Amino acid sequence: MSYLVLARKYRSNTFDEVVGQEHIGQTLVNAIKTGRIAHAFLFTGTRGVGKTTMARILAKALNCLASDEPTAEPCNECEVCLSIGRGDDMDVVEIDGASNRSIDDIRELRSNAIFRPSRSRFRIYYIDEVHMLTREAFNALLKTLEEPPAHVKFIFSTTETEKIPATILSRCQRFDFRNIPTRAIAAHLRTLCDAEKVTAADDALFRVARAAGGSMRDGLSLLDQLMSAAGEVTDEGVVRILGTPSDERMNDIAAAIADGNSAAALGALAGVLQSGVTLNSIIVALGGVYRNMMLVSTCGAQSDLIELPEMQLKAVSELATRFSTPVLVHGLALLQAAGRNIRGSSVARGLIEATLVRLAEAEKFISPEHIIERLEQLASMGVGAGQKKNSL
Ligand SMILES: [Zn+2]
Repeated sequence: MSYLVLARKYRSNTFDEVVGQEHIGQTLVNAIKTGRIAHAFLFTGTRGVGKTTMARILAKALNCLASDEPTAEPCNECEVCLSIGRGDDMDVVEIDGASNRSIDDIRELRSNAIFRPSRSRFRIYYIDEVHMLTREAFNALLKTLEEPPAHVKFIFSTTETEKIPATILSRCQRFDFRNIPTRAIAAHLRTLCDAEKVTAADDALFRVARAAGGSMRDGLSLLDQLMSAAGEVTDEGVVRILGTPSDERMNDIAAAIADGNSAAALGALAGVLQSGVTLNSIIVALGGVYRNMMLVSTCGAQSDLIELPEMQLKAVSELATRFSTPVLVHGLALLQAAGRNIRGSSVARGLIEATLVRLAEAEKFISPEHIIERLEQLASMGVGAGQKKNSL
C-alpha cells in the first residue's frame, strides 16, 4: 500500500484553509485584492503552525497562470500551482536558511534575482529559518531588499524573530502566526479521520491534539503514527504512542477524590498504571483535570480557556461542582509538588498515592495555621467550639 503522509495529502491549498491562521489569510487576501502587495513578507511563529503552507499559497496567488494578475484564489490546477505545491517550481526558490546561511549563498541569490522569472510574474524567494543567516549574509540580503527588482518577492519565515536585524524587519510586512488552539487541531484531525474513513474517539483525538502543543504538523505526524500502526485511532494506540491516560480514567480518580474515597482513588490509579501510562503522565493529566475544574469554577464552563471535547466538558463541569475553588487551587499545588518530588525518587508511586490520599482526605490535612484562623473566624461569629463545621 502506498502511504502518503497526512500532512502532504491534505496540505491546505487556499488562504482560508490554513487552520488557526485565518487572520493572516484574510490580510493577505485583502492585500492581493487591493493590489497592495509588499516586496517582502516575514512569517513568524513556532514550528508546524502553517508558515510554509501559507508561503506556498501566497506564491501560487502571486504566480497562478489561470489569472492575468495576482489572485486571492489560485486555481491549484495549472502547472505553476502544481509545481509550487510540490515545492519544485523554477521561479519559486525555497531556501533552507539553516544550511544556506553564508554570504556566498546570498550573493548567488542576488545575482540570480536580476533575471526575470521564466514563466511566472514573479521570482519568489522563500527563505525558511531566515534568522540562521550570518551577519554578512543579512547585509548582502539588505542590499536587495533596499532596491528590489520589481519582479522579485521575498517570503521569510522564522521561529526566532528577535535574531533578525531591525534593518531587515523594517523592510518586511510582518505576520505573526499563532499557536493553533487544541480545539482547532482536534477538529481538523476529525475531518481527516472522516475523510480517511478511520474510526477515532473524540477523547483520543483531543489527547493527540493536546500533545501537539499548538503545532498542526506534530498533530498530523502523531495521527500518522496511530493510523499506520493500527489502521484506527484507539485508546491503546494513544497510550502506546503518547503515554497519556484517557480523560475518562482521570475523571474516575477525581470523582473518587470528591467522594473522599481514598481506596477507590488508589484503585483507579493502579488501573491506569497497568495500562502502561507513566506516573509522570498521570500527574500531568490529573493536573489538567484540576486546572479545568478550577477554570469551570472561576470562569464558567463556556470559557475559551477550557479546551475539551463536549462530553468531557460536561463531565468535568459536573465534577467541578463537587469542589470549592480554594480546594482546587490547593490540589493543583499538591500535584505540582508531587510531580517535582517523584523525579529520581525510589518511592515515586508511594508519593503519588500519598498525594491522592491527601487530596481525598483533605479535611484531615489542614495546616495548624488554617485551623487557628478558622477558629478565630468562628469565635468572632459567636459559634461554639463544639459545633464542628466540616469545610475547608
Ligand atoms: Zn494556478
